[in-house]
Amino acid sequence: MRVFHLSAECYPVAKVGGLADVVGALPKYQNRAGLQAAVVMPFYNRKFTQENTFDIVFRASTLLGTRRLYFEILKESTDKLGFELYLVKIPGLIDREEVYQYPDETDQFIAFQIAFLDWISYSQQTPDIIHCHDHHSGLVPYLLQHSRLYTRLANTPTVLTIHNGQYHGAFGWNKLSYLPEIDMSTTGLLDWGGSINPLAAAVKCCWRYTTVSPTYLTELSLQSNGLEYLFYLEGHKGSGIINGIDTEVWNPKTDAMIPGKFTIKQITAGKRVNKEALCSRFGLSPDRPLISFIGRLVFEKGADLLAAALEESFNEHPGQFNFLLLGAGEKDNERELIELRNFYSDQCNIFIGYDESLAHLIYAGSDFLLMPSRVEPCGLNQLYALRYGTCPMVRRTGGLKDTVIDFGDDGGYGICYNNASVEDICHSVTRAITLYKNTAHLERLQKLMMALDFSWDRSAKEYINLYESLKPTI
Ligand code: ADP
Repeated sequence: MRVFHLSAECYPVAKVGGLADVVGALPKYQNRAGLQAAVVMPFYNRKFTQENTFDIVFRASTLLGTRRLYFEILKESTDKLGFELYLVKIPGLIDREEVYQYPDETDQFIAFQIAFLDWISYSQQTPDIIHCHDHHSGLVPYLLQHSRLYTRLANTPTVLTIHNGQYHGAFGWNKLSYLPEIDMSTTGLLDWGGSINPLAAAVKCCWRYTTVSPTYLTELSLQSNGLEYLFYLEGHKGSGIINGIDTEVWNPKTDAMIPGKFTIKQITAGKRVNKEALCSRFGLSPDRPLISFIGRLVFEKGADLLAAALEESFNEHPGQFNFLLLGAGEKDNERELIELRNFYSDQCNIFIGYDESLAHLIYAGSDFLLMPSRVEPCGLNQLYALRYGTCPMVRRTGGLKDTVIDFGDDGGYGICYNNASVEDICHSVTRAITLYKNTAHLERLQKLMMALDFSWDRSAKEYINLYESLKPTI
């Protein structure tokens, strides 16, 4: 079965968040299970594309409205990622460094999708499944069915995976002419709330959609930035499949990014080496419990609550725990956190920026990982934390609810709370400090965490079952 995954991100080519981790791992595991899965993404002028070799497999031009675009499809020559990787390159439009936030982002993603469809259409390829990820490829299911250019492919089954339903990629009707040769009687399928909404169009036109956790599937019809009613209406097409983690990239036994490699048998000694390296780098005492945060500093992640909650906790427990943060995002949040660090420099340090190897060291060297998310479709951070024996402190939402059980409950290992609020975060900090004092209990929990299996093997199979269920109608 030949599957094309379409995505804006893929680790290690270009990563902003969890989408990259999923698209960098899922196809590899699918191929091991006997599929022919490939990834197609925009070309980025980054380390990976500069340091690897690519073959040009297709070259053509297409139209974006009245603008003629010349594009190339590049294929990574060695398949070293465990799957075929194809990049859509359009000089002047899709050949830049950053993944998001260019003023002409809409044009970039529409052009990406058209170039992909032109390529498979003109080169006579017939994939068995086209798997779209988030709104960046959300117009593909619509265009396949309603553009005269792609009639040959109109019956190709499409699957949409929603990694983040807050972002829709909506744009104005003035860009309708960018969509090639569409049947004008079907434009209602593109509409939501008066705009062309690629995520809404994908939910309407895809054959099936999935969310990255079962709880998030339910939450989308309650909170999805305006698409709630659509998810309620189309719910029969949806299912929740929890993300896995790439246990080869995230393996404390072999991780080249951490100084102290360890297995479940030497958790305490192994974590100590990493904690000492981390604390010495950030000027913190390794003898206190270390609570960390990694992630985008945005409202969804509860990043606006951190400074106030940590201030209150530092005052309540002076000198009794440390806090370390790695992240970047909204400037107000960054400023508040830097002020917090300046005031509580003995107990707190903040690294504003993106640093993949530091993230590995933090998962390995921390005792606790704080995630007070308002919205968390799956969340990978808690899964990495568990893999490295670090206790997640999570709000019960989305995938956090599906993957972390409170240590006070049967078989539990984490710290859970109900509200994204200063009070609940402070209470979880108090529980973490108390748990840390009971070394034997914490070590027992760490063993439980490291023994959990969140590898892709199981979830990759669920996607394959979903593809298979679409087969009889092919
Ligand atoms: P989201 O995709 O919503 O940002 P996820 O939990 O699904 O959240 O995935 C986040 C991924 O991005 C994890 O691999 C995490 O380690 C990584 N990450 C987030 N922020 C940073 C950062 N500042 N530096 C390094 N890695 C980061």
